[in-house]
Amino acid sequence: MAKIIVVGSSSVDLVVTAARRPGAGETVLGEGFVTVPGGKGANQAVAAARLGAEVTMIGRVGDDLYGQEILNNFKRNKVSIEYVEPVTHLASGTAHIVLAEGDNSIVVVPAANNEVTPAYLAKSKDAFREADILLIQQEIPEDTVAYVGELCREMQLPLLLNPAPARPLTEEMIANATYLTPNEHEAKVLFPGLSLSEALRRYPNKLFITEGSRGVRFFDGEQEVLVPSYKVDAVDTTGAGDTFNAAFAVALAEGKPIRECVRFANRAASLSVTKFGAQGGMPIRREVEEQMQ
Ligand code: ADP
Repeated sequence: MAKIIVVGSSSVDLVVTAARRPGAGETVLGEGFVTVPGGKGANQAVAAARLGAEVTMIGRVGDDLYGQEILNNFKRNKVSIEYVEPVTHLASGTAHIVLAEGDNSIVVVPAANNEVTPAYLAKSKDAFREADILLIQQEIPEDTVAYVGELCREMQLPLLLNPAPARPLTEEMIANATYLTPNEHEAKVLFPGLSLSEALRRYPNKLFITEGSRGVRFFDGEQEVLVPSYKVDAVDTTGAGDTFNAAFAVALAEGKPIRECVRFANRAASLSVTKFGAQGGMPIRREVEEQMQ
């Protein structure tokens, strides 16, 4: 069984639907309200567990009801929460989403996710020893991502960095990552002044740019390769990237050849967009394997 560590954010999405979004100082009546678990770290941990990996989450929640909800969701999905310590003086991370007029507006409050600090990671280092790969994103402090990069290099633990949401990376951070998986927008932020093809050539078998329904592009040392995604009826693409990264990590940890890993991840991600919600559409292992035959 692949052993995966996820270092990252967990939160609850509070989603309101309304005919119209309120202007400043205005109150409108909404039509619906749901809460769903989210946060890129949590999404990727849940996706990897559903795909059959043994997953340990390293993160923080607040000491509120949302924190309980987040922990219960991890337990339901068989993600280990030994290293998810509640913070006593802060709220859990939340995303406040208004769906109106065919578009969404979102306010994200990181709260407890800002407490995923280098000092907290230093305490959680024991979890690193047994792992096959570590998966991390950028909804936690920048210095934590840098610190994890150094730890992985020292411990020779393969590091998959999903640089989302977009923010620039140091050369050192890029060097410490074994795999980098931006979408096209994030890739442009990471490599300003380079075309995507130039960026791919610079990082063979390391940089994998996800291009939505088109699939994934990388440079294999000799040529640029596009691994196409699968044609599906897309219902909700929220969480496609999270499922892709989780599935890619699972396949890499299982030692599959790189192109096979991308294919597996495309298959899992394409299935995830056929259902509503980030975690709602994340497939289990059997569903992906049936589709790949
Ligand atoms: P993000 O969700 O981070 O913006 P992408 O949109 O590039 O990332 O999607 C990540 C991966 O999900 C793609 O590489 C592809 O495998 C899959 N995917 C996304 N949208 C679709 C779609 N409409 N049809 C099939 N696969 C998709």
